[in-house]
Amino acid sequence: MKDILETLIKLQEIDSDLHRYEQQRDALKSKLAQLTDLIGRMEKSIQEKRGKLSEVEAWYRDQQDAVNQDNERVNKLKNSLNSVSKTKEYLLRQREIEGLRKAKQAKEDELKKAEEALNDFKQNIAGDEERLEALRHDTAKEGGSSWDQVEAYNKRIAEIQVRKTALLPSLPERLRGQYERILKNRDGLAVVPVLKGSCGGCHVKIRPQIYNSMLQTVQIVNCQQCSRFVYIPADELAEVMNAVHEPFESEEY
Ligand SMILES: [Zn+2]
Repeated sequence: MKDILETLIKLQEIDSDLHRYEQQRDALKSKLAQLTDLIGRMEKSIQEKRGKLSEVEAWYRDQQDAVNQDNERVNKLKNSLNSVSKTKEYLLRQREIEGLRKAKQAKEDELKKAEEALNDFKQNIAGDEERLEALRHDTAKEGGSSWDQVEAYNKRIAEIQVRKTALLPSLPERLRGQYERILKNRDGLAVVPVLKGSCGGCHVKIRPQIYNSMLQTVQIVNCQQCSRFVYIPADELAEVMNAVHEPFESEEY
């Protein structure tokens, strides 16, 4: 029993190491995945904005062409005024020129506003690109060493796994399955010491008759609450034994 208990305690030490490194590795991997995801989303957003920008720029060029055409028409009409002899027709052409000028002015005002909006939009995209570049730079700098670190964790985990595989045969098969189940269901902690009479995992008081029998002989006991393997560590055992013997000692004097 003593050997089995020692094997269980050793296994737990190994698995605690494994658990810790796996958690650290996974946290690092998820941080890296988040960064990659963020870069992807930023790239997509910039691409969409660029698409919109080129649409607006095409519209802007069309409007500019329209303004130029209006200009040409106004100039043509102006030149033709000299050849008009009838007053009525002269007035009609002048009215047409005035109408065209007003329409042209409205388009120009609209274009001016659009130009400001376009410039703001371009600045906005440039800002996004700058942020993306900075993020890419940081990710390349830190990310590179982070992936190395993930690799280092993997190597370490594999080494610890080898130690565990070597130790497992020392445990009876029945207990192996039980141990792995508890480990999985209890957040990587299957073997815990009893501390001041309570389970070191869930802190529930161990039943007195079980606790007392644990003091008498080494045995494999499971906590009645969380099912973890519990054992009384040497220092707690010594403490309890001293407390029990104290009255006897005082009687002797
Ligand atoms: Zn417990």
